[in-house]
Amino acid sequence: MRLAVVIICIIMWENIFPQIDKYYAARNNMVKTQIIDRGITDAATLNALSKVPRHLFVPKENMNNAYADCPLPIGYGQTISQPYIVAYMTEVVNPSKKKKVLEIGTGSGYQAAILAEITDTVYTIEIVPELAKESTERLRQMGYNNIVVKSGDGYNGWPEHAPFDIIVVTAAVTDIPKPLTDQLSENGRLVIPVGGVSEVQELMLLVKKNGKIKKSILTYVRFVPFIRSKK
Ligand code: SAH
Repeated sequence: MRLAVVIICIIMWENIFPQIDKYYAARNNMVKTQIIDRGITDAATLNALSKVPRHLFVPKENMNNAYADCPLPIGYGQTISQPYIVAYMTEVVNPSKKKKVLEIGTGSGYQAAILAEITDTVYTIEIVPELAKESTERLRQMGYNNIVVKSGDGYNGWPEHAPFDIIVVTAAVTDIPKPLTDQLSENGRLVIPVGGVSEVQELMLLVKKNGKIKKSILTYVRFVPFIRSKK
């Protein structure tokens, strides 16, 4: 009798929380082995990575790989970045509650969700209209009402909401777009991959101090290319 009750409870639990619980262990394991063990220490970043259900940001057929140590295809030739890179780019821009964020390259919306767990508002621009639409809907369903998605070319930033304390670019540029550095606030931080598609790219950090930009190379990465819209 007791066993029957336990079994019924487990079945009910799995039906009520089907996706959340199934991936809980995988997500914790990802945070421990891929993020903490590689040196990410910022508590807000770790908390966000532990909380956001990454499996809901990838196509169904890839759900079981959502917590693997690699980028994954999200359609339209684009990818969701490797978890460690998302964590690294988040930690390096020093996110905190009152900061205003601009992301260029919404993709699945995962990086935007991670930033929105920590900061007040995230503005994010995606050039592939279908991805902009999908991620808008996904983020709305998940209750992220502090993320605003725009469909379009992010080269010119989002002047109506500038300046931004944080700018995160998740597609590789050959030249850093001037509108983005112009829209960075004093003490603001911009992280951006720089380099060609078939090359290893430099992940650069730009910090604005007394109106001047200071650049540094953080590490080497591989991102999909930054595309320009044809006018
Ligand atoms: N941050 C994403 C990763 C997306 S990959 C995530 O967490 O899933 C990079 C994305 O940048 C792609 O979706 C690509 O379509 C987009 N992109 C490329 N060039 C762009 C541009 N000029 N403006 C806006 N988005 C761009």
